[in-house]
Amino acid sequence: MTNSRTVGPSDGAVATRTVIVSAKGAARWQAGHPWIYRTDIYDEPGDAPGIVAVTERRGRHLGQALYSPRSEIRLRLLTRGRETIDSTWWTRQITAAAARRAGVPATAYRVVHAEGDGLPSLVVDRYGAYVVAQMLSAGLEQARDDVLAGIEAALAPDAILLRNDSAVRRHEGLALEVVAARGSVPDTVAVEEHGVRYLAAPQAGQKTGAFLDQRENRVLVGQHTGPGRALDLFTYHGSFALHLARRAHEVLAVDSSADALARGRENAVLNGFANISWQEANAFDLLRELEAREETFDTVVLDPPAFAKSKQSVPRALGGYKEINLRAMRLLSAGGVLFTCSCSYHVSRAVFFDMLADAARDSGRRLQLLAVVGASGDHPELVNVPETGYLKGALLRAVD
Ligand code: SAH
Repeated sequence: MTNSRTVGPSDGAVATRTVIVSAKGAARWQAGHPWIYRTDIYDEPGDAPGIVAVTERRGRHLGQALYSPRSEIRLRLLTRGRETIDSTWWTRQITAAAARRAGVPATAYRVVHAEGDGLPSLVVDRYGAYVVAQMLSAGLEQARDDVLAGIEAALAPDAILLRNDSAVRRHEGLALEVVAARGSVPDTVAVEEHGVRYLAAPQAGQKTGAFLDQRENRVLVGQHTGPGRALDLFTYHGSFALHLARRAHEVLAVDSSADALARGRENAVLNGFANISWQEANAFDLLRELEAREETFDTVVLDPPAFAKSKQSVPRALGGYKEINLRAMRLLSAGGVLFTCSCSYHVSRAVFFDMLADAARDSGRRLQLLAVVGASGDHPELVNVPETGYLKGALLRAVD
């Protein structure tokens, strides 16, 4: 290819370089998947990342994409058109994504969910007056200034923090860093979620500062919480526990991290809840002890970290999921409710539900499926792009 210049963020970002893809690569885009892999590239500039034009071998224009010369995912589709992709373009896209979230009854939520919103590798989360964003590909990193200008114009935040410390950036040859892009975002931001208040931790918390993907599930579980005892395992900052505490007489919130529990305590104070006890423990051990003591709970939440970090680890992970689910089922009082989920991308929804059926069989309990859930609506999955979905969960009721 004869590509004389590099596309940078400040040059109006007209795609002057071209990548040529194979028929198979072109077919992927035609089928609605936004990625083209290294193996489907016919010719590429190979020099610097940025926004490129993409054609098939006979020269037909296919669209414009984010180009990552060092990643297996070489191209991420931005548009099928030829329009200039500048700060105005980003403003328009982010504004449209924000409009799709109109009416979310929370002050912390996801505004842009990357591929799910047609803006591959870009995450934009709102925490009250602040924005925390992630730029997760080399191509996008090149457009940083235009994207930031787009966020400012579309959302008018007080400050923007870039939590570019996600491990996926390594696949792109990018540094892991946390950058104060505009103004300064505080260490903690008090946010409200359907009437519950909590402190998000944008600088140092998990993901961009909180697990926003479970927001609607927390509300759902809250609505099904009975007046008795509740157990929130893997509680982190107590996000589920806070919703349980509105109805349950007492809540036991458990995590292996003392730091996470300290934040949970602060959150309880923020809401004036005195009915949550915080216990530092390994959930596997504690479940065994609770079962041995024949304790029962009217509501149980299981929100573990991803047990399967790779394809190879799925069988072992399933053993872990089954163990905690089986024991949790046995702890349920008659009529008790269990919310259980997995955020392991490698554990598909079908496999997760097979595991649950297996656990239910062994538990000796009759369990009704009250709801099948995924991530909150502000984290949209694309039906034909399985990579956009990772969280799957179920709400179960022990009939007797
Ligand atoms: N429910 C939370 C998110 C949970 S993240 C929310 O909605 O915000 C997973 C949590 O599990 C982390 O806080 C981590 O410290 C904790 N954890 C990991 N392994 C654990 C174990 N074996 N026992 C108890 N907690 C564990």
